[in-house]
Amino acid sequence: MSKDWDVIIIGAGSAGIPTSIFAANRGAKVLQIEADDKIGGTLMLSSGQISAAGTKRQKKMGIEDSAIEHYQDAQRIAENTIDPVLGKLAIDNAADTYDWLESIGYKPINNHPVAGGAHEPYLKRRYHWADNAAIAILDVLKPIHEKLVEEKKIDLRLNCRMVEILKDKSNNVIGVEAKSANGKDVFYGKNIVITTGGYAHNKDLWKELTPNIPLRAWTNRYSLGDGLIAARKIGADYDGANKFLCTFAGVLEDPEDPFSTSLGMQFSPQVREPWEIYVNSDGNRFVREDHPSVHAREHALLDQKNQKMFIIFDERIKQNAPCINPLIESSIDDKYGNHPHYSKSNTLIELAKKISVPEKNLIETVEKYNLATENGIDKEFNRIRMFGKISKPPFYAIHAGGITVVSPAGLKTNESLNVLDIQGRTIPNLFAAGEVLGFTRLSGSAFVNGMSLMPAIAFGKLLGEKILHWKKN
Ligand SMILES: Cc1cc2nc3c(=O)[nH]c(=O)nc-3n(C[C@H](O)[C@H](O)[C@H](O)COP(=O)(O)OP(=O)(O)OC[C@H]3O[C@@H](n4cnc5c(N)ncnc54)[C@H](O)[C@@H]3O)c2cc1C
Repeated sequence: MSKDWDVIIIGAGSAGIPTSIFAANRGAKVLQIEADDKIGGTLMLSSGQISAAGTKRQKKMGIEDSAIEHYQDAQRIAENTIDPVLGKLAIDNAADTYDWLESIGYKPINNHPVAGGAHEPYLKRRYHWADNAAIAILDVLKPIHEKLVEEKKIDLRLNCRMVEILKDKSNNVIGVEAKSANGKDVFYGKNIVITTGGYAHNKDLWKELTPNIPLRAWTNRYSLGDGLIAARKIGADYDGANKFLCTFAGVLEDPEDPFSTSLGMQFSPQVREPWEIYVNSDGNRFVREDHPSVHAREHALLDQKNQKMFIIFDERIKQNAPCINPLIESSIDDKYGNHPHYSKSNTLIELAKKISVPEKNLIETVEKYNLATENGIDKEFNRIRMFGKISKPPFYAIHAGGITVVSPAGLKTNESLNVLDIQGRTIPNLFAAGEVLGFTRLSGSAFVNGMSLMPAIAFGKLLGEKILHWKKN
């Protein structure tokens, strides 16, 4: 059987772009197929926060750091739930990848690296992002990629969606089948690399792999799990869904649409101190609303039924507190009482009925909290800053919930990113990188700063530069 391509890369996002750049620069005949009409994938949405230790930038700034310290710190944050083999591989290759990004023009914010941001801080300054998020990364990768496409070193097929991975009789992976406007195409290659991203935009697959977690997502529309589905069909093994952690928190603009998560809700007490209380579907508080650790708040929400919560407040708070979602400040008032997730009532009993929580519980919860604000001591949760009683009608409830921007489960590979089957054997010629490996593989059951995007880029680079091999025809 003819093997036309040295390397076939499925997907042209965070992991796929560096794979094709480095493989093409090593002289491989590269085919890259991309379902979307442009390259970039999740780089077009991602916050672009990346971490690396032992970089040239750190050295210049006098920050002494090493991959070992980074790895230990990441495992500390994730409570040792990061895959040790791939975690080390990603972190060992992060500095070289970061230096390469800077060498091709990437510029982080001036005083970066920092220790922390939206998630638990590292012990050392090794975390960066740019003013225009991950677009800053796409902007430096794209011209290099475009040049290689122009020079015909990468054959890029846009609007071309892989549907099957093909094997021969000896179980070697030999190619892919893909759909495009022209119909079905079959491409044969010596190495097949899956970089199709996550699956959090696929309701059915989410339900199958993460059955107890309702989907509320903010993800790329092509994060459909195609790579995971195709690889499973030919016997690949996967895991990781049990380590899922939700992000705190979001509101669905359309209750029927899990992908309508609104942006801009401010729950971080470091950014906006909460004036409200948060209750679960039993009408009980479940977390210290001003807990400084986002990890603690996320885990508390994860433990609630359907990761569902209500933000409860009164007219006084609405009038005086900074808006909980500055992005919709001018229109948020119109939503109360008119949107299924923004309720308003003259009494707490009515409010409880509207949001379907036990009336007695909600009333008791608010009474207990009001007493705590009077005494200045929150015995239940040790909240430090309270902003007065919730007692002036009308009363309000915003229905929010744990959301996700990533997919927890993914393919198993060995340290060469060679995909494994359910017996733990490598599937010849099949490799994977990026979120198709499962977000939790590299970040464990926590959000460890930058531990999805940097591993995706680093593994793409590593595959193209060192791991993939091909014999010249
Ligand atoms: C809002 C948001 C913020 C985030 N912020 C951060 C952050 O700050 N730091 C961090 O570490 N991580 C972050 N992440 C996660 C991180 O950005 C992703 O895990 C990473 O970008 C995924 O890279 P990838 O290459 O695996 O997937 P992608 O970049 O999504 O690339 C996959 C590509 O494959 C294509 N594709 C899919 N199916 C097929 C098919 N069948 N055939 C052909 N092509 C296909 C897609 O169209 C896409 O272009 C964030 C994610 C989101 C959504």
